[in-house]
Amino acid sequence: MAKFIGAVVVEIETCKGCNLCVVACPTSVLDLSSEANSKGYNFSHMANSADCVGCSACANVCPDACITVYRVKTA
Ligand code: SF4
Ligand code: SF4
Repeated sequence: MAKFIGAVVVEIETCKGCNLCVVACPTSVLDLSSEANSKGYNFSHMANSADCVGCSACANVCPDACITVYRVKTA
């Protein structure tokens, strides 16, 4: 079975810090940053980037389409 490694990019200024993506990630990659964007929201970021499998669960759940997922096939 092919394996994937993934990475996500979060649109920091669009993120409202709702935490839905953090909860949705099956491998606990995401967390809310201690830093805030210009609107005062603690945005989501990759706290544990090595475990991203590119499944897109985070992007699918984000109500504001802030997340872009990149996947690379490894085997
Ligand atoms: S693509 Fe999947 S594994 Fe990667 S951060 Fe999003 S939910 Fe987590
Ligand atoms: S689901 Fe979207 S708006 Fe909510 S914290 Fe994650 S990236 Fe931000």
